[in-house]
Amino acid sequence: MGSMLVNRRDQQFVLFEQLGVEKLFTAEKFHDYTAEDVRMLIGEAEKFAVNELEPAYKPGDEQGCTFTDGIVKAPPAFHEPYRKLCAAGWNCATKDPDVGGQGMPLTVFNACAEWFNAANFPLMMYPGLTWGAANLIDKYGSEEQRQRYMMNMYAGTWGGTMCLTEPGAGSDVGALKTRAVRRDDGTWLITGTKIFISCGDHDMCGNIVHMVLARIEGDPPGTDGISIFIVPKYRVGADGQPGEVNDVSTGNIEHKMGIKGSATCVLNFGENDACIGELLGEARSGMRIMFNMMNEARLEVGMQGLGHASAAFEHALAYARERVQSRAVWDFANPAASPVPIIEHADVRRVLLWMKAYVEGIRSLNYSLAYAIDFSEVAGDAAERERWHAIAELLTPVCKAFSSDRAVDICSLAIDTYGGYGYCSEYPVEQYMRDAKIACLYEGTNGIQALDLVARKLPSKGGRAVTALFKEIGATAAKVAKEPALKRDAGILGNALQAVSGLTRQFGVWAEGAGLVVPILYARPYLDILGDLLVGWHLLQGAAIAVRNLEKLYGAAGVGSDAAGRRALARTDNEIAFYEGKVAAAKFFAVNILHGLPARCESIGMMEKVPVEMLDRSLGMEG
Ligand SMILES: Cc1cc2nc3c(=O)[nH]c(=O)nc-3n(C[C@H](O)[C@H](O)[C@H](O)COP(=O)(O)OP(=O)(O)OC[C@H]3O[C@@H](n4cnc5c(N)ncnc54)[C@H](O)[C@@H]3O)c2cc1C
Repeated sequence: MGSMLVNRRDQQFVLFEQLGVEKLFTAEKFHDYTAEDVRMLIGEAEKFAVNELEPAYKPGDEQGCTFTDGIVKAPPAFHEPYRKLCAAGWNCATKDPDVGGQGMPLTVFNACAEWFNAANFPLMMYPGLTWGAANLIDKYGSEEQRQRYMMNMYAGTWGGTMCLTEPGAGSDVGALKTRAVRRDDGTWLITGTKIFISCGDHDMCGNIVHMVLARIEGDPPGTDGISIFIVPKYRVGADGQPGEVNDVSTGNIEHKMGIKGSATCVLNFGENDACIGELLGEARSGMRIMFNMMNEARLEVGMQGLGHASAAFEHALAYARERVQSRAVWDFANPAASPVPIIEHADVRRVLLWMKAYVEGIRSLNYSLAYAIDFSEVAGDAAERERWHAIAELLTPVCKAFSSDRAVDICSLAIDTYGGYGYCSEYPVEQYMRDAKIACLYEGTNGIQALDLVARKLPSKGGRAVTALFKEIGATAAKVAKEPALKRDAGILGNALQAVSGLTRQFGVWAEGAGLVVPILYARPYLDILGDLLVGWHLLQGAAIAVRNLEKLYGAAGVGSDAAGRRALARTDNEIAFYEGKVAAAKFFAVNILHGLPARCESIGMMEKVPVEMLDRSLGMEG
């Protein structure tokens, strides 16, 4: 038996049988990669996750981070695995070899990261934030800045952070108050307070490089006036080593529901008027620079959701096979009958299949986003790159919000599967749930993701990306309908598509007139509907591949269409059982989720505006 974190067979299925990851290797950037390399890398990631990261997961939660006399310490259990993660070269695997990376496609790295996230997400926050910050310097920094900061960050010897949030500027980043004043030598004095800064301070790295959003004195209010600065914890000396302290102090660390091993800090910049930063890129382009990196960062958060969802599901499945409780339903009246493993109870099986369908559908969806990001960089011609970029832009808020919301549902259902034991810290599922919730909130709350989808991504370039996406889904429905075993389900996908595309068109019409409030009001339910459509699409695509492979496997075994013979074979043949599982998940999802989409679209179509029209005080009497 393997580890209870990720279904490695399904990973291979999505990468090789569904996406065709090898197509990426025709691009010059990736031409050294082979399918065998991908298998080997994922195998290494699994080993690292299971042997190094997972053992530190619970200790990291129990030890938490500490803040004493202004000094933040990460959980002691994290130090050694973090060091090994960097030493093994995982810290910047997608970057080019000349900066210490392996030039790995994001799609492949994401499959590896699913293991890491499932094993110990709080620890993965440290390298995750560092990558994000280093990537900004890589893309927008001067050569000097790249040498001074980035190389140490990619090596993992220095950490990095993203400093956007302030007490009065959360979702509304444009309201920030942190200020920058130019010094004679061209550097900048930074003053302000940032809150909730992940990995803002800790003792696993020799220096921490903060990417700070601030407004240059005199610049306009709102997001247009924001610039971004590189602010190290220790100023870097001429020898490239950390030198004097840079007037960045930690005010406190947050005590949180989950990800307790990740230090979430209040950072004070320039309390003594001596915090020096360097401008990154041009003045007033801070938001543009940040937005440029959002696709990968938001996908990372979606991958966090997938990691937790996958681990929670795999644990629930293993537990359901072992836990013996209650007699089978057909033996209920027979006191002499033995109790059975709970996996035999209908309700438990239904819940497990629900979880499986979402985990596998979200895996396929998130990997496809990484695939689109890869192609947006390496596709042969500019129009192709632009097409992939538009797909990535559209999918990003959906993957971030949908993966994280469903992950919380899946973790909750995993706890249900364990019964009372699931609520207790003896088993990891309660920690998965606590750790998963934050993904709905940071990197832009899921409510904000939905607004981004509806207000920016759908209408972008006359709705070209969403129209193209719907066309592809329609083509899949038509193709899958040719498989007799999936005809009904393809029809359900087609109906769901019609309803969702109708609603999407309607959003465009409303946006032009007095109905504008409706797409804004129902942005989040819309995102959920689109997420379900996409997951159903991916699952049915997979099921069609599975059906074709099953025909071959049954044919080769000589069982033809005999149902009993097929079932007997599935009991002993892992491949057949796997493909049957793909078909079962897709059919279950089609009937139980996709089938309901037209009704959900219709509800929004009724344009009920009561949530915005009613008085605040009617929500509940004011105190
Ligand atoms: C553990 C943790 C780690 C974090 N790490 C970082 C980090 O590394 N760097 C960083 O900069 N920040 C970080 N954050 C901050 C995080 O990104 C913010 O908490 C988040 O953006 C929301 O801001 P807020 O908390 O001020 O909520 P608010 O903006 O006050 O939002 C409260 C609620 O109102 C809703 N809302 C707000 N505006 C609108 C609107 N226009 N329309 C509809 N609904 C709206 C939101 O969706 C939310 O439900 C972290 C937070 C936590 C808890």
